[in-house]
Order: sequence, then C-alpha cells, then structure tokens
Amino acid sequence: MTKIAIIGAGLSGLSVAHLLKDYADITLFEKARGVSGRSSTRRDEPYFFDHGAQYFTARTKPFQDFIQPFLDKGIIERWKPRYVRFKSNQIIQRRNWCAEEPRYVGVPGMNHVAKFLAEGLNIHINTRIASLNHQDTWQLTDGQGKQYHGFDWVICALPSPQALELLPVSFAYHSHISVIKMRACFSLMLGFEQSLPLDFEAAHVTDADLSWIAVNSHKPQRQGLFTLMVHSSEDYAEACIDDERDQVMQHLINETSHIIGQDVNQANYKNIHGWRYANNADKKQKSPTFFDQNLRLAACGDWCFGGRVEGAFTSAYNLTKQMKESAL
Ligand SMILES: Cc1cc2nc3c(=O)[nH]c(=O)nc-3n(C[C@H](O)[C@H](O)[C@H](O)COP(=O)(O)OP(=O)(O)OC[C@H]3O[C@@H](n4cnc5c(N)ncnc54)[C@H](O)[C@@H]3O)c2cc1C
Repeated sequence: MTKIAIIGAGLSGLSVAHLLKDYADITLFEKARGVSGRSSTRRDEPYFFDHGAQYFTARTKPFQDFIQPFLDKGIIERWKPRYVRFKSNQIIQRRNWCAEEPRYVGVPGMNHVAKFLAEGLNIHINTRIASLNHQDTWQLTDGQGKQYHGFDWVICALPSPQALELLPVSFAYHSHISVIKMRACFSLMLGFEQSLPLDFEAAHVTDADLSWIAVNSHKPQRQGLFTLMVHSSEDYAEACIDDERDQVMQHLINETSHIIGQDVNQANYKNIHGWRYANNADKKQKSPTFFDQNLRLAACGDWCFGGRVEGAFTSAYNLTKQMKESAL
C-alpha cells in the first residue's frame, strides 16, 4: 500500500487522512500535544474557550456531505446567537443570523470536530517535523533528530509560511506559495463568575483594534461558566505580534470594555493567545491544487481557499480527488 506522511493534524491534514485512509497507509505528524490546530479549544476549568475558529459555514456540496455524519452523531450543531455589528462602540446593525445560512460549531468544543476525525488514525503528536529528504522514498526528521523513513508521498498541511520552511525549492509550486501571505490575530479569553448583561452573543467589530466579540459559553452544550471570546483586528495583531503579552492583553481588555460599555477588568479569568498565521491576507484566494507528481509531494491548507474551515476541507478534498485519480 502507498505510504503517505501528512505533516499537520489541523482540519486540512485530518481531512486528507480521512479521505485517503482506505487507499493508503497514512501517518500524521503534529507538533502540538493534541490535534485541531487553529480549530482548538482552550480548557481551564471552569472556563472553556474556542480560541481559534468560532464557527463555520458549509456552502459547497462536498463539505455539506462530509459534515452530515457529524450532524447525525451530534459532533456539530448549529449556533444561533443574537448577532450585532459594532462600528467602534456603536451598534450599527442587528441581524437575524439564525434565519440566514447555518453556522456550525463543534460540541462541546470546536476541537471535537478534529478529535472525531482523528479517531483510529496513526498520529505522532508532540512531533515537529524539521526537515524532509528524498532518496528512493521520503525521510522526515523531527526537531529532536529522530528520523521516519519510507514514505512514498509527503503532504504538508500547514499554514503557507510553515509549509515553505519544509518544501524544497524544487517543489513545482514553491514560488506560487511564497506569495500567499497570512496575517496574525490575538485571542483574548475572559471568564466570569456571573453572566454579563449583554444584548448579543456574537458581534463583528470595525473601526477598532478588535474584530469579534462572542459569548463563547452561549454555544450549544458548553460546560463551565460565562465566557467572552474576543479577537483583535488583523492590523493590530500584525503591528503587535511580538509585543509583551501582558501589555497586549490589557489593551484588548480596555478596548472590549469601551466597546461593550462594561468593565471587563473584573473578569475572574484572563488569558491571551497570539496566532502568527491566523488567516489569509487575501480572503478571496483560490489556488490550484499544489500537487507535484514528480516529487510525490503536495501541500494543502485553508490558505489555498481564502482561509476558514471550509477552505481547509476544500483544499484537502481537491487534493485527495486528484491523488485518487492519478497517483495512488
Ligand atoms: C483566531 C482565529 C479565528 C478564526 N475564526 C474562524 C471562523 O470563525 N470560521 C472559520 O471557518 N475559520 C476560522 N478561522 C480559520 C480556521 O481556524 C482555519 O481555517 C482552519 O482551522 C485551518 O485548518 P488547517 O488544517 O488548514 O491549518 P491548522 O489548523 O493551522 O493546522 C496546521 C497544523 O500543523 C501543525 N504544525 C505546524 N508546523 C508543524 C511542523 N513543522 N510539524 C508538525 N506539525 C506542524 C500545527 O500545530 C497545526 O496543528 C480562524 C482562525 C483563527 C486563528
């Protein structure tokens, strides 16, 4: 059976594994201590936060088909928050989000989508792949110098700048990928003993250093106490990604208080996470399939399709379709 190494166990890498598992012998490598990448859930009881992806849409038929078993098994559910749009600290729009397209979340956390996909797969966690070498087959070396041999194919399912660190310049799409830029984002996590009296549970924000405020604990089947999940604007994060984290956290707390008109300094739990490669700079990006049959090397990820969970799946779907047709 063809042996495939997939580097990265976020939703794109796991989708590739899921779609190819009956056709090939698959091994995944993930640098973090668990799967799910940017669709993770931070747990610090009694508080839980989806600090990456907030929800996702399913606009294409292949993705709708793919998630149907998740819906049937209760791994995902629709989220129906009261939605508003802020311009700085003014609410400029209220929308009946629930009457629009479905917005799905993993239950009881976003990371459960990845956990479900990971079931039964061969995954090396805590394993950062540092380099790739090809002789007769591909050989991977991790950050500790340990080697993994004998792969016919390698698929990099990583943010574009991290994929470029591993892909050789001889990869047919190297220059194509090098122009796909990703931007940063901060996630501010706030936990409270008492609920805040807000008249929304989901808000997009413009004209501020924030882009999103959500009552995370409002999502279906969340455990724990009242939580707010706040995302910075990409512009702010790009400018401050290397700044001292306490300083960034205090600034975002002040911004949140200003926008929602309540002092969130009183939160019982405060934490911040910085994502260096959160989202595509170009949200309309549509790339070809990065599939090099000569080198038996491929790349995929949300960045191939403008970012987002559905983009991660679509890139995996297109890649595996092409591999099944021509390579395996
Ligand atoms: C703050 C934030 C908010 C978001 N909000 C939304 C949203 O509301 N809706 C939506 O649809 N999308 C959202 N997204 C985007 C969504 O999270 C991503 O599109 C999706 O999770 C990407 O999956 P992926 O598998 O392509 O990449 P990733 O999830 O980044 O997976 C890549 C994996 O590779 C691992 N890795 C990296 N380097 C190595 C290495 N050298 N060796 C081994 N492993 C490695 C990483 O640890 C990671 O687990 C958001 C993202 C962020 C950061």
